Amino acid sequence: MSIDRSVPDVHLHIGDERRRVGGGGVHQHVFPATGEVQGSVPLAGPGDVHDAVAAAREAFETWRTWTPWQRRDVLMRLAEVLDRSQDELARLAVLDNGMTLGIAQFTASSVVDYARYYAGWADKIEGRVTTSPAHGRELAYTAPEPFGVIGVIITWNGPLVSVGMKVIPALAAGNTVVIKPSELTPYATEFFMDLVREAGIPPGVVNMVPGTGEAGEALVRHPDVQKVSFTGGPTTARRILAACAEGLKPAVVELGGKSASLVFPDADLDAVAFIATVSVHQTLAGQGCALATRLLIHDSVYDELAEKVVAFTRDIVLGDPFDPAAGMGPVVTREAQERIVAMIERAQADGAGKLLVGGSVPAGELADGFYVEPTVFGDVRPDSELGQVEVFGPVLSLMRFDTEDEAVAIANGTSYGLASYLWTNDIGRINRIAPRLQAGGVYVNGASPVVGCELPFGGLGISGFGREGGLEGLLEFVRTKAVAIA
Ligand code: NAD
Repeated sequence: MSIDRSVPDVHLHIGDERRRVGGGGVHQHVFPATGEVQGSVPLAGPGDVHDAVAAAREAFETWRTWTPWQRRDVLMRLAEVLDRSQDELARLAVLDNGMTLGIAQFTASSVVDYARYYAGWADKIEGRVTTSPAHGRELAYTAPEPFGVIGVIITWNGPLVSVGMKVIPALAAGNTVVIKPSELTPYATEFFMDLVREAGIPPGVVNMVPGTGEAGEALVRHPDVQKVSFTGGPTTARRILAACAEGLKPAVVELGGKSASLVFPDADLDAVAFIATVSVHQTLAGQGCALATRLLIHDSVYDELAEKVVAFTRDIVLGDPFDPAAGMGPVVTREAQERIVAMIERAQADGAGKLLVGGSVPAGELADGFYVEPTVFGDVRPDSELGQVEVFGPVLSLMRFDTEDEAVAIANGTSYGLASYLWTNDIGRINRIAPRLQAGGVYVNGASPVVGCELPFGGLGISGFGREGGLEGLLEFVRTKAVAIA
């Protein structure tokens, strides 16, 4: 069966308008697997962003008056149309950034999960009754309220998941939204906007302005944007937070990671090797913020596990992301490919570790795409660049430890703090170590931060702050009013 590789026309979705031209010019979108231009994307300029915020501001006045049941029902309908459209969402997610179809199907199903989960919360956002007898008041209560317009700025590695984690809880809480996707990944979000309309969400409640940093900055600085939710890198986060500081507005920032996976001798080593390679290489070609990119292995099982990891890595087939036989696709752009290869070369030149497998760009029929071989370094020095800095590519670092204290010190020894992973069957050890790991989440024996929308996800340190998912993720979009009646 031939694969449909056509891409939709991308629009700026502003109120009930669909604009094919934006004030920010045009981006020629390249399919990372072939290096070929597959579509042109209109980019929003500051004027378009202003219009989108105005549409969201106007829609807020109506949307806030919908009863929680009405919001629940329309989000349930959104979940249904998303569910029916999973195949197309996944197809477009592949065309967005070259992720493999299997991963794209996972991201499509996860946005359905987020829609169902937060639809269920929409009619359960409640305040508390309190009393303040000391002040002569007879009744006091808290009233949860939406902020108003939320500016949602997302990056290119998993736009559908970001939409699920940010846009849907913001709507459930009664806010309206302007989404600024990366110009590199407009297609799945474009289709999401069609589904928003099909579900019966009123015009202006969700707006979408594809664009570059210029559009993102205009959105953050807009005085009618009451809160910002951002996923991306720490450098951009600093700029966004500086702009938020000027406007005195709050933000949630989900940034990168250098997550450690601590492997103790009682772990199932085959499972560790399998998950480690699936995670760092086969999930988005290593372009995921919470991937376990540092595998910290107890000295007594280091050699055995390193051998298994290398064997699994050698078996990964690179190829067309639509081909079910391909275990790994390309990285997002030529610049990303060059940046990753440069980091690999510096690691070798610096003696950061020993290259065990990979390290190059494949030749032959994949040469036009932006592929990087799945790469493993052994005996990586924790203090080297490779040991400290996020690669955001298919590069796994193996490190040795001897004692629990040493493992915890290495795990905590970077500026990041997104996820930590632990492999052991000793519940006492899990209970000892989990509280000591400086990370937003600890995932044990193959558990993953991306499987459940009911768990909050987010970081500390330069991995950011605020939470997405779970009740905590909903409450990011609620502010509490106190009402006291004397
Ligand atoms: P980036 O920070 O360059 O861009 C992210 C988004 O911000 C894009 O939409 C971009 O157009 C926009 N932007 C750029 N400049 C802006 C400005 N001045 N004001 C407002 N918006 C602006 O991110 P990237 O380098 O493309 O993405 C990779 C990074 O994202 C990695 O560091 C990765 O770890 C991180 N990431 C984190 C998570 C998470 O949930 N924690 C998820 C995915 C990616």
